[in-house]
Amino acid sequence: MHYYGTSGTNEKGHLTIGGVDTIELAKEYGTPLYIYDIALIRERAKGFKETFEKLGVTSQVAYASKAFSSIAMIQVIEEEGLSLDVVSGGELYTAIQAGFDPERIHFHGNNKSKEEINMALDYGIGCFVVDNFHELEILSEACRSKNIPASILLRVTPGIEAHTHDYILTGQEDSKFGFDLQNGQAEEALKLALAKNELKVLGLHCHIGSQIFETTGFKKAAEKMIEKLAVWKQNYDFTSQVLNLGGGFGIRYTKEDTPIAPSEYVKDIISEVKTLMKNASLSMPEIWIEPGRSLVGDAGTTLYTVGSSKVVPDIRKYLAVDGGMSDNIRPALYDARYEAAIANRPEADCEETVAVAGKCCESGDMLIWDLPIAKAQPGDVLAVFCTGAYGYAMANNYNRITRPAVVFVENGAAALVIKRESYEDLVRHDLPLYAHK
Ligand SMILES: *Cc1c(COP(=O)(O)O)cnc(C)c1O
Repeated sequence: MHYYGTSGTNEKGHLTIGGVDTIELAKEYGTPLYIYDIALIRERAKGFKETFEKLGVTSQVAYASKAFSSIAMIQVIEEEGLSLDVVSGGELYTAIQAGFDPERIHFHGNNKSKEEINMALDYGIGCFVVDNFHELEILSEACRSKNIPASILLRVTPGIEAHTHDYILTGQEDSKFGFDLQNGQAEEALKLALAKNELKVLGLHCHIGSQIFETTGFKKAAEKMIEKLAVWKQNYDFTSQVLNLGGGFGIRYTKEDTPIAPSEYVKDIISEVKTLMKNASLSMPEIWIEPGRSLVGDAGTTLYTVGSSKVVPDIRKYLAVDGGMSDNIRPALYDARYEAAIANRPEADCEETVAVAGKCCESGDMLIWDLPIAKAQPGDVLAVFCTGAYGYAMANNYNRITRPAVVFVENGAAALVIKRESYEDLVRHDLPLYAHK
């Protein structure tokens, strides 16, 4: 049993998080229920931010709010002094509703609409991460018509793709995102942007992948970008004030995953960037990073109530819970793996291996295929760990299942931060064709 963050057990032998008994939470708020360990989120945030400070490198650590966006979550990010990435009008709206300083909001996305761009300009956000030529045009038009300047980063694809333990160099990267660095697109974008008075080019951005456990990919990407910056300094007298290296820092979902600490990622990457900049005779830019998963992933736990089971002789035993792909689509979407335990007796010895199934009408609705676990009974509470990133954020109403509640726990206290949806919520936007008979 691996205990994340502040997790442990109490005198009843129940799983606790943030000093709160999870079984009490299940009783009070029902299941499925997402619980976030706020002390762990703060620890991760400080791990990134304070490392930059110690190294004396000006930085922005922007939480990629797509991992989990809610008003309370963004308030925690604000308290920790981080910046924020948004990728849609909806995420931007949530940030503004949370009272987040617009100056520290960065707007991402490969197809921002004119409405979203206008909205972001009206709020006065700090930076647009421009993805493509179309955006360059519509952003500059919007700036001119409003007479508001915009700071931008150009998103480039450096030809590096990183996955978990390795990275690949892809000559011309086949990605829907960004300007290609190798084939001249990025340079073309820079020239266009520099010619527009309403746009201030702060620098370059890249994001090479997700769930990355080592720093080689980040360092290779920085190398590719800095090579170009040296040329662009010569050719256009362009100085990049900012180098944004994206997110993707890996976390531990199962015992096979071996991430390094936030401080280690930062130290290693910074030391390489410093060397590369020095060798290119360029001055050190601000370094921005964009962790999503690594700030909230292992701080999240989902509680379910165990219901039916089915034994397929000689093959496996299915254990069904009261949620599934409606609250965690990652196993179905990308074979994501998780660990879990019975929250009312997490220390009980494992007696069998089960496949944890959801309750949706879809054979692929599985949460875990091979979970060693104590014998679970209907009514037991199953805790699935490390569900804090892309869990609630991707939750849906398939089968008209209501989205669960979210509770934050810290220092022995629990706060409900997102209410469970009701059946009324499900039909809120439905309009009848006929009056009710
Ligand atoms: C998704 C994304 C992130 C965050 O990725 P994580 O794997 O959650 O850290 C950061 N930057 C960009 C541009 C992204 O698309």
